[in-house]
Amino acid sequence: MRHFFPELNAWIDQIDDPRFAPMVVYHKRFLVWWGLGLFFCRLGSRRQLDFQFAADGPQVVGNFNRLADTAQQSRPVNQTLEYFLRKVGSAPIAGLRQQMVRRLIRMKALDEARLHGRFVVLVDGTGYLVFGHRHCAHCLTQRHGETTLYMHQVLEAKLLGPADTVISIATEFIDNRDVPVATGQERAKQDCELKALRRLLGGLRKDFPQLPVCLSGDGLYACGEGFQVAKDYRCDFVYVFQPGRLPALWQDFQALLRLCPDQRWERVTPDGVRQVYRWVNGLRYTDSAGRQWAFEAIACTETKKDGTESEWSWLTSLKVSHATVVGVAMQGGRQRWREENEGFNAQKNSGLNLEHAYSHTCWAAYYFLLQIAHLLLQLVEKGSLLRRLAEAQGKRTAVQWFGSLKNMAQRLLESLRYVAWTEETLAQFGAGPIQIRFDTS
Ligand SMILES: [Zn+2]
Repeated sequence: MRHFFPELNAWIDQIDDPRFAPMVVYHKRFLVWWGLGLFFCRLGSRRQLDFQFAADGPQVVGNFNRLADTAQQSRPVNQTLEYFLRKVGSAPIAGLRQQMVRRLIRMKALDEARLHGRFVVLVDGTGYLVFGHRHCAHCLTQRHGETTLYMHQVLEAKLLGPADTVISIATEFIDNRDVPVATGQERAKQDCELKALRRLLGGLRKDFPQLPVCLSGDGLYACGEGFQVAKDYRCDFVYVFQPGRLPALWQDFQALLRLCPDQRWERVTPDGVRQVYRWVNGLRYTDSAGRQWAFEAIACTETKKDGTESEWSWLTSLKVSHATVVGVAMQGGRQRWREENEGFNAQKNSGLNLEHAYSHTCWAAYYFLLQIAHLLLQLVEKGSLLRRLAEAQGKRTAVQWFGSLKNMAQRLLESLRYVAWTEETLAQFGAGPIQIRFDTS
């Protein structure tokens, strides 16, 4: 964590300086940290900056100066941050995220979660901003009876790290420029996301040309275009296989499963769930554009202790065998549900307030600040330092120790307001040459 401060500050320095009209000029490093504080203290709205970071918190300015390596005498108001972000735009903030992720990859902090040498990248879309009025020319519209909602969606690529970390690595905003005219709603949604997927991976490959990637996505990507996009951007994939989406292929799959009864693996998970895996190698498929594909398909039946059964299936470009089936299905397939749990949900529900419109003009910049702050929070929450401190208190995890993520944010805010963070306090984040280690036990 401490490791990031000088580097993050150096990266912020690379942002082009906007011309400032206000009388008091704030250093851009100070403003970026101020903006990150909005999220790492989980303040919930931009207005809260003016109250929670106000003068009744005597150490706030000093502590931000220490983080940003600046010498600001006064505190900005939330409009100062807004003004700054409007001037610089969202691209440099996205660039900061990219540099942080690149750093984590380079220091091998995420290697433990690799699947067959590849990084598992979850792809998923979510509703992001919803307004009761049209707020820009590109809102997606949705009719609900008498009312029309104006929305923005986002498609995210999230890299799966160790200890359930979920790290935003590429982002595409979806708006009405993606919607083809005159198609049904479900169809339109799929076309939208597939188009956005192509842009998303284009961006990911520009930033990370050599990264070995295995995409993990839901059933909507299991189609000709979904396979083609993965191929074009040199990605492997594990996509959910839904009977209804590819009915003829599903029938082939079921027939072939019966022909290869040896391709079966059974196990009981540590929490007592019985899993039966069956698979088919080299399942062939010709898509609507006449392109030929061959991949592996896995079916998994789960029986919980109470007798409830569930079934899962995936299509994958990874090789499936007795030795690899569990890894591919669990790390590549099942993990995609983690994005909902650890990624979007965590960002919607834990005070990060993803769906809040932090700004009507430069919301994308706030979106990336949120992603960076969430990454920092995960490093703190799941890193080895807090775990060791928690263990000293007889607790297993930092969250158990503090009671909740919200409590952790509150303690952080209290500390930011009232405790002067000395050089040693900051250094304690990682005494000596830094290693970020995740709690994977
Ligand atoms: Zn809009």
